[in-house]
Amino acid sequence: MKASPEAQLRLLELADLDTELARLDHRRRTLPETAELDQLASRAARARDALVAAETEFSDLEREQARAERDVEQVRVRIDRDQARLDGGKVSSAKELESLQSEVVSLKRRQGDLEEVVLELMERLETATARRDAAAAEQATVTGQAEAVTARRDAAVAEIEQAAGKASAARSSAAEGVPPDLLALYDKVRSSAGGVGAAMLRRGRCEGCRESLSMAELNEIRAAAPDEVIRHEECRRILVRTAESGL
Ligand SMILES: [Zn+2]
Repeated sequence: MKASPEAQLRLLELADLDTELARLDHRRRTLPETAELDQLASRAARARDALVAAETEFSDLEREQARAERDVEQVRVRIDRDQARLDGGKVSSAKELESLQSEVVSLKRRQGDLEEVVLELMERLETATARRDAAAAEQATVTGQAEAVTARRDAAVAEIEQAAGKASAARSSAAEGVPPDLLALYDKVRSSAGGVGAAMLRRGRCEGCRESLSMAELNEIRAAAPDEVIRHEECRRILVRTAESGL
């Protein structure tokens, strides 16, 4: 293939821009914020689960407490009623008196037991409240952190996109100076040679694969016409000659 030395030099510009675009693409795909957001998402899921569990425990305990308080109240009403009957002096049968008195005793014992249950439930509710508050606080913390990291990531992506837009525009104008057949060859080599389609021959070395060329290869290149498109046998990249080639 033949192409003017100017067109060949353009390939070096293209190669620089393609390297820049690849670097930007890699940066976008490996932003540390992406990993941070993944971690925060797992933390948020754990916090959400903990909050749901704590809220469920809290409302179960509240229900239990209401029931225990109702039981205490019922027992208290019965004690009051029995006591009123005892105090009213209308119960004359000794047997009935005795039975009422023993009922009051056992009701008072029951009242004491139930009040202990209420107290215990109050303590458990306190613990559950603390757990619920901690889970809610963790959730708020994670949400805040995720917002900050998202903003940082969005800013980084915007910056990368701006740089990529500039590099793409520069690549388009650089490509305009390259004949279609040479451009097609460059793109083909680029896709099979690790993203770099053309490289400078600098002081007898291919800048694409960093290999030095043999004396025989260099002699062949010296003998080639300036518009001959040269490929490096070793890496198949297009070798572009410049004043620094050492020929
Ligand atoms: Zn090479």
